[in-house]
Amino acid sequence: PTDLNALADEYLRLAYHGLRAKDKTFSCQFFTDLDAALPSVSVVSQDVGRVLLNLYNNAFYAVQERATNTGPGTAYQPTVWVSTRFKSGTIKISVRDNGTGIPDVVKQKIFQPFFTTKPTGEGTGLGLSLSYDIITKRYGGELIVESHEGEGTEFVIKLPV
Ligand code: ADP
Ligand code: MG
Repeated sequence: PTDLNALADEYLRLAYHGLRAKDKTFSCQFFTDLDAALPSVSVVSQDVGRVLLNLYNNAFYAVQERATNTGPGTAYQPTVWVSTRFKSGTIKISVRDNGTGIPDVVKQKIFQPFFTTKPTGEGTGLGLSLSYDIITKRYGGELIVESHEGEGTEFVIKLPV
């Protein structure tokens, strides 16, 4: 049995450290809102951990990109949120950012293998396609995206218990 709250929290810190290691001048705030009543689930923790890491890395990249585009001296505060909820036999994990957002034409392609908008060396385009397969095929769940260009993005993982 895996404690998804612990996993969500650990991998968020891991992803943030990875970001800081690459760029020591960039800082971003993050918030966790974890459901204390979340049941443990029978998943391989590395599987869901890998999905979370992909979502977090994408989120941090998106806020960093928006910060770069906005430039210094603005009120923009890069932020990433994670929350967990348990309701009606389903666990929901939400990873949200106030980064660049995803234009609609791009949104249609993000789950395709090798699709990336990042420069060579910065993205393989495999993160979301792999994440989608893990959540839907391996665990019978769903991976849903909601995004508004210029505002931010939310990915929701739904897992049946
Ligand atoms: P990669 O990160 O290697 O580009 P992914 O499969 O993880 O590959 O993501 C595919 C594309 O989806 C990204 O290149 C980016 O254009 C878009 N994307 C994913 N997550 C976000 C996000 N949180 N904010 C903005 N764009 C995103
Ligand atoms: Mg990625």
